[in-house]
Amino acid sequence: MSSAGAKRSALDGAKLILKRGRDGRVRAGHPWIYRGEVAEVVGAWKAGEAVDVLDSQGRFLGRGFYNPRPSLVCRLLTRRDEPVDGAFFRRRVEAALALRREAGLASDAFRVVWSEADGLPGLVVDRYATVAVIRCLTLGMTRCRPWIVEALRSLEGITHYYGHDEEVAGRLEGLEPLQGWIGEAGPAEVEIREEPCRFVVAIEGGQKTGFYLDQRENRALVAGLARAKTFLDVFCYTGAFACQGLVAGATRAVAIESSPEALALARRNLELNAVADRAELREGNAFDLLRATERRGERFDLIVLDPPPFTRTKTALEAAARGYKEINLRALRLLNPGGILATFSCSHHVSPAQFEEIVRAAAADAGVTVRVHAALTQSRDHPVLLNVPETRYLKGLLLEAV
Ligand code: SAH
Repeated sequence: MSSAGAKRSALDGAKLILKRGRDGRVRAGHPWIYRGEVAEVVGAWKAGEAVDVLDSQGRFLGRGFYNPRPSLVCRLLTRRDEPVDGAFFRRRVEAALALRREAGLASDAFRVVWSEADGLPGLVVDRYATVAVIRCLTLGMTRCRPWIVEALRSLEGITHYYGHDEEVAGRLEGLEPLQGWIGEAGPAEVEIREEPCRFVVAIEGGQKTGFYLDQRENRALVAGLARAKTFLDVFCYTGAFACQGLVAGATRAVAIESSPEALALARRNLELNAVADRAELREGNAFDLLRATERRGERFDLIVLDPPPFTRTKTALEAAARGYKEINLRALRLLNPGGILATFSCSHHVSPAQFEEIVRAAAADAGVTVRVHAALTQSRDHPVLLNVPETRYLKGLLLEAV
C-alpha cells in the first residue's frame, strides 16, 4: 500500500480515541483497551468491526475489533496501518505455524494459534489429527471465521473445521456461540498421538477444545518420575496423566474426576494404551474423594493435582484460594515420605506468586516440608508474551515431600 493510501485508510475508518494519559498500557506492548479508557468512538463504527485506535493527540496506535458491550472493548490486532482482511489472517497463521514448526512442536495435536501471544487476540485454534478446532472469543473474530478457515488451509492434513465457542464469551460479547462443524461435518472423535501414548479426543462435546494440550510437557515430566510408583491423578479428565504415568511404569494409578463423560473416555484411553488393568477410576467430587482416601489410609508416591480454574473473576479469588489450599493440603497428606506432588492452577487470576503462597500455606497446615524441584508452566505451543502477562495462565510446582 502506498503511504498516501495508508494515510487515507487511517483517516477514513471509525476511530476509537483514548482519553488523555490512558495510552500507557497499549504503548507498553499490551493490546487491551477498557471502556473507561475511551474518550470517544467517532465515525461509522459497528460492533465487531475493526476501528483505528488513536491516542488523545490523534496519533495512530493500531487497529482492533471494537465491541461496546464487554468492558474490554477492544484488543489490538495490529500496530501497523494495514487492513484486517484475509491476507492479514494468512500472515498471522503462517507466523504462528512457523514458530511451532521451528520449535519442533507441530505434531498431530498442538495449539496452532494462542490468541494475544500470536497476534490474534480472541482466537484459539487447536489441531487434533485431521480436525482444526476454532474458538472465537470476541464478536469480531466470529465474523472472520471464513478468513480463519482459509488461512488454516496451509496446515497440512486438516480436512475438517469445528467451531467451539464458549457460552461465557457468548454472553460477554453478545455473540452467538458456534458449536458445530464449519462446512462439511467431520468425525465426532479422533485419535491423536502424544508419544508414547495415543488418546481419543472428543471433538463434539469435549471440554475446552477437546484435550488439554497445555499439559503435554508436564505430562512427559511426570511420566519420567512415575516408574515403579503408585500414582494418584486428581482431576484426570480423559486420563492423560494416568495413561502417561502407567505407560512409563507406574505400578498402579487411581484417577479422580467428576464428569462421567470424561471418565468414559478415560476408560477407553487406558484400554487403548493397554494399561487399564493397573488403573482404577473414581467418579465424584475431588474434595470428598480426597478426604475419603485419606480416611482409608491410602497413600501414594506420586500425585498430580490439575483442577479447573476455580474462579473466572477477580472477586471470587478468595474462595478459589481456599479451594486450591484445601486440595493441596489433602494431597500433601496423601503422599508417602519422599513422595512427589505436581500441583497446578490454570486460573488467570492467580499469579505464580499467589499460587506459591497458597501451596506454602497448605504445606504448613499439612505439617509437610516440601522441596521445590521445578516451577512449571504451559507447553511451548502456548507461547507467552512478557508484555501480556495474561498469556501465561498455567502455573505449577513440582514438589517433593522431604
Ligand atoms: N488433567 C487433565 C485436565 C484436567 S481439567 C488432563 O491432563 O487432560 C480439570 C478437570 O477437573 C475436568 O475434567 C473437570 O471435569 C474436572 N472437575 C472439575 N471440578 C471437579 C471436582 N470438584 N471434582 C472432580 N473433578 C472435577
